Amino acid sequence: MKSIIKNFFIFFFIFIVISALFYSAADERGNTAPADIGQLVEKINGGEVASIVVQGDILNVELKDASMLTVKKETGESLSSLLSNFGVTPEKLAPLRIEVKDESGLSFWLATLLPFLLPLLLIGVFIYFMMRQIQGANGRAMMFGQSQAREFNNQNQDKKKRITFKDVAGVKEAKEELAEVVEFLTSPKKFLELGARIPKGVLLVGGPGTGKTLLAKAVAGEADVPFFHISGSEFVEMFVGVGASRVRDLFKRAKKNSPCIVFIDEIDAVGRQRGAGLGGSHDEREQTLNQILVEMDGFEPTTNVIVIAATNRPDVLDPALLRPGRFDRRVVLDNPDLQDRIAILKVHATHKPLAKEVSLRRIAERTPGFSGADLANLLNEAAIFAARENKKLIDMRHLFESIEKVMLGPERKSRIISETEQKITAYHEAGHALVAHVLPHVDPVQKISIISRGMAGGYMLKVPTEDKRMHSKTEFIEDMAVMLGGYVSEQEIFGDVTTGATSDLSKATELAHDMVTTYGMSEHLGPRTFGSKDELVFLGREIREQRDYSEKWAEKIDEEIMAYVNGAVARARDIISQHKPALEKIVAVLLEKETIEKEEFEEMMNEVDAGEEEKDAGK
Ligand code: ADP
Ligand code: ZN
Repeated sequence: MKSIIKNFFIFFFIFIVISALFYSAADERGNTAPADIGQLVEKINGGEVASIVVQGDILNVELKDASMLTVKKETGESLSSLLSNFGVTPEKLAPLRIEVKDESGLSFWLATLLPFLLPLLLIGVFIYFMMRQIQGANGRAMMFGQSQAREFNNQNQDKKKRITFKDVAGVKEAKEELAEVVEFLTSPKKFLELGARIPKGVLLVGGPGTGKTLLAKAVAGEADVPFFHISGSEFVEMFVGVGASRVRDLFKRAKKNSPCIVFIDEIDAVGRQRGAGLGGSHDEREQTLNQILVEMDGFEPTTNVIVIAATNRPDVLDPALLRPGRFDRRVVLDNPDLQDRIAILKVHATHKPLAKEVSLRRIAERTPGFSGADLANLLNEAAIFAARENKKLIDMRHLFESIEKVMLGPERKSRIISETEQKITAYHEAGHALVAHVLPHVDPVQKISIISRGMAGGYMLKVPTEDKRMHSKTEFIEDMAVMLGGYVSEQEIFGDVTTGATSDLSKATELAHDMVTTYGMSEHLGPRTFGSKDELVFLGREIREQRDYSEKWAEKIDEEIMAYVNGAVARARDIISQHKPALEKIVAVLLEKETIEKEEFEEMMNEVDAGEEEKDAGK
């Protein structure tokens, strides 16, 4: 809005300048002295005038002494009648050379048309700029139907910059699957001669940051073909029908550049099950999806365009997308395991100078659950951290610090915390840590801190010793006790609870809910699931879970969840009240140092355990 006003003033200014120029030009026409009719008559009668040139209403008078006069006459009145009215006798006029010129030429047209044209022109220009402004704001509303696909033409890139499989670490199976696609693109003949139908679509399934885009680019890089990139959400805009026409446009461009790769990110934005939506945008999605299917079905066997689509919600995709001849190949990308994490860290560390003692393996060990993007981000943060300290090399401390930054957000040391709050936080985190230490199936404690980070007042990290894909009921129950350890500790020590435990409570409740309704881990309710997450889409969000059970069960589920949560609280309370000295010890160290690392914590606990055993033996 501001810039519209600014533009308006600019135009206003230009308008003033132009009109000023125009009028001054008109005034100065002829570069001569102005005069009135009376003076002219006097000069004629005095015999001083040599010639008069009539140009419209202007009389350009040349005197015998070669000087010039301009005189303006009334519009429509002829010169001769004018002069005779003023009493100039015909004898006086006779020797004069009188010439009548058409007031043609530029100046005439300018003088007559400009007063009309100029405002029109200005309004036109003004509207044009307004439109441009609006377009900018509304995301190029004027280019409705054109696809917004960005093209990365690998061929134009020098060999060094091109992304290939070498740049994608780990994901061995995915690369093997996609190597086939590279072959389809580079030597389609081989397959066509044997009567094989070359697949048209590959679906990459994996969470955010698992390298789906990277892999698709690498396929294009390996095959040395153009790569078109568009996101599913870009198809769906404010006008119905835009999506479909964008799809048409995209595929037209792709076919022209065949062989090539079309990469559709977030295909679930258009490819959700049809008929599952509420609200206006769902028709639009359906049309867009249909158009994608039509285009893919319409490929000639020889059109060598392969569509790679990415999603992290394969469960919500319309089955029509997954039928043979469409996205019938699936490549699943998981978060990397230990070996893959090491490999990814290596790839991203290539241009970063690392100190000699840096062990990427140790970093990988401490980052289970990190995605490829998280790991790339971690190394980048470490480099920034080192640079800010004016170091030439990135060392272990930078890397460890970055792990926590990526996981929990930046440290907020400057946040001023009152002494009481600090004490509460210390007891809270110590509670988590103590319960985690005592229970046998919980991952070892990695770090305890009462430095505020992101949203959390303090934090306790535990890191699994190995990558786990399965979790048992026992583990879940113990985890729940750890989650509630902070809450219980506050309660035991201060006889009160704070809002600091809110997210712990909701996490524990959620876990209990999943155990009962999704994992079939409740003895009373038996091995069945409750509720399907068959979602309804409204403004892109899940609005409710579908209930496939009766009110009677609902009550039982609530009871069961409550029982699990209460059980976990009781367990945590037992541990904390039995190990009060250990708790106090952790709190004392936390208040003194703010953080405790794994080694120190374990040593401390060993001492305390030994002391307790002695006491027990002495009884
Ligand atoms: P997605 O499309 O799955 O959300 P991206 O492909 O955009 O994820 O990955 C984001 C970034 O993460 C990549 O640009 C790359 O730097 C890094 N990354 C992810 N996976 C890997 C991997 N396997 N090897 C190397 N880098 C990776
Ligand atoms: Zn907590």
